[in-house]
Amino acid sequence: MKKKLIFATGNADKLKEIRMILSHSDLEIISMKEAGVTDDIVEDGETFEENAVIKARTIMERTGEIVLADDSGLEIDYLNKAPGVYSARYMGKDTSYEIKNAAILAKLAGVPDEERTARFVCVIACAVPDGRILTSRGVMEGRIGYESRGENGFGYDPIFYLPACGCYSAELAPERKNELSHRGKALRGMRSILAEQGIL
Ligand code: IMP
Repeated sequence: MKKKLIFATGNADKLKEIRMILSHSDLEIISMKEAGVTDDIVEDGETFEENAVIKARTIMERTGEIVLADDSGLEIDYLNKAPGVYSARYMGKDTSYEIKNAAILAKLAGVPDEERTARFVCVIACAVPDGRILTSRGVMEGRIGYESRGENGFGYDPIFYLPACGCYSAELAPERKNELSHRGKALRGMRSILAEQGIL
């Protein structure tokens, strides 16, 4: 029988991505819904690591299974690393990204290239019923652009410019974004850690 691993997300795209990255393993990856966990978990940590660990540990304790959870966000240096862990809640969780992105562009009006540095960060945590807590961090460095561009991706992708690609994150094809992204890097890092730990 395949070992079960719960991925603590309600986001179908994230689930698809992790199934793709862990597709050659002996693990059966199931969503929170499939595992029968429906309650919201309070993410009150101050770092991406803390929030990812809180989610993974809480669901592991409820289900007794191996659990992976992620936390991610955008750090803008000019705004003292805001919105950071508050990325989803920045300006209110129901405010559209069109409005959030326009507000960020306005705050950075007139700020030169070298002060527009920013990064997407993703931390994946794994909680194992034997008590092991493992984490993997992935980062995608870039800059806040001068306009909103591209139709792909989500969230802050349209204002995140990648100098190495000469384009905005929302202009990347999904496979290319997986190769470069904070989440892709953190997931591939976690895949190596799980293999090293004999969990895969
Ligand atoms: P989480 O789903 O609680 O980790 O919240 C992450 C938030 O960070 C999202 O709601 C977005 O606002 C932002 N974010 C994280 N990763 C990305 C990305 O790849 N593109 C755009 N925005 C992102």
